[in-house]
Amino acid sequence: MQIIKGRENLRAALGTLRAGGKSLAMVPTMGALHEGHLALVREAAAHADRVIASIFVNPLQFNDAGDLERYPRDEEGDAAKLESAGCDAVWMPTPADLYPDGFATTVHVEGITDLWEGAHRPGHFDGVATVVTKLFTNVRPDVAVFGEKDYQQLALIRRLTADLDLGVEIVGLPTVRAEDGLALSSRNALLSDDERAAAAALPRALDEMAAMIRAGTPPRDAEAAAKQKLVGAGFGPVDYVAYVHADTLEPLETANKDARIIAAASLGKVRLIDNRAG
Ligand code: AMP
Repeated sequence: MQIIKGRENLRAALGTLRAGGKSLAMVPTMGALHEGHLALVREAAAHADRVIASIFVNPLQFNDAGDLERYPRDEEGDAAKLESAGCDAVWMPTPADLYPDGFATTVHVEGITDLWEGAHRPGHFDGVATVVTKLFTNVRPDVAVFGEKDYQQLALIRRLTADLDLGVEIVGLPTVRAEDGLALSSRNALLSDDERAAAAALPRALDEMAAMIRAGTPPRDAEAAAKQKLVGAGFGPVDYVAYVHADTLEPLETANKDARIIAAASLGKVRLIDNRAG
C-alpha cells in the first residue's frame, strides 16, 4: 500500500494508481480506524479497480476546540488496518496542505445543513462540505464510499456532489455495529467502561421507537419516550431524537414508509449520533 504525504506527491501516486485506465474509489476518513471504516474500504473495492483512503482530521468541521484536541489519532495502526483491508493507497494531507495561508473559500450547502447536526454544531457542515470538495478535486475518484452512520452528512455529500458536478458516484454503506448494537465510532474509545456499557441504550431506544411508530404511536410521543429512556440510561444532554423524511430530513408528523430515525446525545464528554430506518 502506498502511503502518500503532502499534496505534491499525490499527483504522481494517482498516475500509478490509474495506470492502464484503472478506476478509482475513495474512502475519506479522519483516522482512528475501526471495522466500520474497513467495511467502507471493502465496499469501495467492489466498485472500482483501485481504492484510495484519506486520513485527515479536518479542523474546519470541529466547532469545539476540545473535541478536536481529544480526537483519537493512530497513523501507524491505521495504515496497517487499511493495508489488511486491501486498500491500495492512503493519502494523509496536513492542514497546511489543504488550507494554506490565505485560504478563504467555504462551501455551503443550503437547507439540509440548517437542521439537526447543523443546528447543534454551527459551522460543522460547512467544514465537511469544504473538505469533501477539496478531497474530491485533488483525488478525482470515480466513486466515493461513506457510512450511513453519519446520515445527514451522507445526504449533504450527495447534494453537494450533484450541485457542483463533481462527477463522483456516492455510495452509502449501512452502519457497522458492535455486538450490543452500538454503532462503531472512533469516539467510542473516549467512553469510560461504565459509559460504554450505557451507550447501547442509544440504538435500543431507536429500535423501540421504530417499533412504537409501526404499532401506531404518534411520532412525537415515540420521540418523547425515546428521550426519556436515554436520560434514564445516563445520557445528557439529548440534543435530538427525531422521526424525519429520509431525503429531506424534515420532521414527519405521521408514520411514513420513507422515514429515518435520527438521534444525537452525550454521555459525559462524548457526543454520540445514531440513526436507523423509520
Ligand atoms: P470518520 O472518520 O469517523 O469521520 O468517518 C469516516 C467515514 O466512515 C464516514 O463516511 C463515516 O460515515 C464512516 N463510518 C464511521 N463509522 C461507521 C460505522 N460504524 N459504520 C459504517 N461507516 C462508518
